Amino acid sequence: MADERGTTARTGSPPAGSAGGPGRIVVKGLPVAPGLAVGTPVFHDEADIDVPVIALSAEDVRGEQRRLATAIRMAKKQLQEVEHSIEREVGRRDARIFSVQGLLLDDPAFRKAIRERIAAQLVNAEVAVRDAVLSWSARLAGVGTEADRDPVADLRDVGRLLLRILAGRPRPAAARAVEEAGADGTKVVLVTRELLPSDTATLDRRRLAAIVTASGGVASHAAILARGLGIPAVTDVDVSSLPAAGGAWIVDGGEGRVILNPKPEDLEQAVHQSRHYQTIREELASRSSGLVRTKDGVAIELMLNVENFDSVHPEMLDGLRGVGLFRTEFLFMDRKTFPSEQEQFEYYVEALGQVGDAEITFRTIDVGGDKPLSYLQVPAEPNPVLGWRGLRLSLQWPDMFYTQIRALLRASVHGRMRILLPMVTMVEEFRRARTMIAQIQSDMEAREVPFDKDVPVGAMVEVPAAALATRDLGESADFLSLGTNDLSQYALAVDRNNARVASLYQPLHPGMLQLVKLAAEGAHQSDAHLSVCGEMAGDPDAVLLLLGLGVRSLSMSPYHLPLVRGLLSAVTLDDARAVAAEVLALHSTTEIRSVLRGHVLRLAPELGTLLPPA
Ligand code: PEP
Ligand code: MG
Repeated sequence: MADERGTTARTGSPPAGSAGGPGRIVVKGLPVAPGLAVGTPVFHDEADIDVPVIALSAEDVRGEQRRLATAIRMAKKQLQEVEHSIEREVGRRDARIFSVQGLLLDDPAFRKAIRERIAAQLVNAEVAVRDAVLSWSARLAGVGTEADRDPVADLRDVGRLLLRILAGRPRPAAARAVEEAGADGTKVVLVTRELLPSDTATLDRRRLAAIVTASGGVASHAAILARGLGIPAVTDVDVSSLPAAGGAWIVDGGEGRVILNPKPEDLEQAVHQSRHYQTIREELASRSSGLVRTKDGVAIELMLNVENFDSVHPEMLDGLRGVGLFRTEFLFMDRKTFPSEQEQFEYYVEALGQVGDAEITFRTIDVGGDKPLSYLQVPAEPNPVLGWRGLRLSLQWPDMFYTQIRALLRASVHGRMRILLPMVTMVEEFRRARTMIAQIQSDMEAREVPFDKDVPVGAMVEVPAAALATRDLGESADFLSLGTNDLSQYALAVDRNNARVASLYQPLHPGMLQLVKLAAEGAHQSDAHLSVCGEMAGDPDAVLLLLGLGVRSLSMSPYHLPLVRGLLSAVTLDDARAVAAEVLALHSTTEIRSVLRGHVLRLAPELGTLLPPA
């Protein structure tokens, strides 16, 4: 820790010495994202995006409303992109922020409020957006009582996004400020009154050292994202009173402290400490060689979840079994037509080529439900999530399935692969799919097309009834993969993408725990290899429980690997079993989460500052 003697420590008030010479100043704020960093401050204030005021005539109204509609469409697309990238990098929980914002854009009352302003007050879309956001914010203030909801910040974020798009500058100015200031390699401390979630998500992490803001609490979306992305952040600092000139700042996101004009010894200490912090992270990350072993030597298999290889470096796979979940549907999205067999074949071969000796579990196309394909005309269904999706669609439309299986089997001679079937409800469905695969294999054999005859075929367990019948499914399938995302959605009857019921989406619900326990036991009885590939596999609290319930294989997004590895190597099987027994007797999700977190911190205290809020 830096020595604070002879310094000025303040909370949110102007630091003494800010107007005078370059004395050392320590400003106290609220710690929101751990980590320590040194960087050059860049002050940025985008509170007021220029809003042009244009008086319209009655004939202009329709055109202006169309301009608004286009901006809303573009904003939705942008939010979806940010949501996907955060989901890939950090996880579904944090990405949900952006689906909530998408909901706002869909809200008919919100859209109507803006459209009516244009018509009634004959003002341009920018003015109507600004005023509608102001009046809605006043109404919503104080509504966000849940820790993971901040409706006013969401509304203002959405408002800013619309104003930027209407101004023809969709990229957040904060992102541009960091990019410009960091163009010469300088590490930047972004100092701003407020940072909204979409700002945080688009900042260039190579150039950004830390974030200092005036407002935004520990639970604000921007803070959650900063933690998820590993950017140290301090809030509740009166940034307007801080001197802009001067050298580097030290930002201590763990202590909630910013040091301006640090002394050489401060810098030395800060560099040392940030290295220490970095070492913890790297050390955790480096425990990738070989299988991770628990403290008492039990081997736990770790794998990655990926959608494509853009964000995965092959070296990440060192020592891992491979990719436990390759969501192939993403190859089918963002296109206008189905990829041909040859296109798919080339794509799968390329993916296999990237992982060397490691294995890829290709999950066959899982569209329908919340993952529609624009060129796949599925008749409207009253309950799409309970309707035609995953394997059900593949069995109904065998052409699509046959093409994908042929492409996969042809690619199977270029590496190690497994094929995983999504949304299996009945064992009969699984057997039918296997028969279809066998037909394709004999046809390929007859035509002397080479393929690996031993490619394992497994089933996703993500339907509650299937989870209760893993023993039967495990007798037909070569392996099982527990999809806790859909399993939670169906067991809790909570749409995993509906922000209105997001607070009920609790994978640690006592009933879910029973379900996971029974699924693990059933798989064990059938001798089928079971891994967990839903978000629970990347949540350290849940991992401690899964280990205690008998799970020995986990597949997760790369971001979660270091923490999970760190936890696993700090616990024994007996620890985990005792925790599982204790937690299974609890009656509420809140209790379960807090007891699990207590044990994680007790067993692996070094993870303390790196864990997301419980
Ligand atoms: C799941 O449902 O848990 C899963 C891993 O699959 P997806 O998130 O793609 O539905
Ligand atoms: Mg699923």
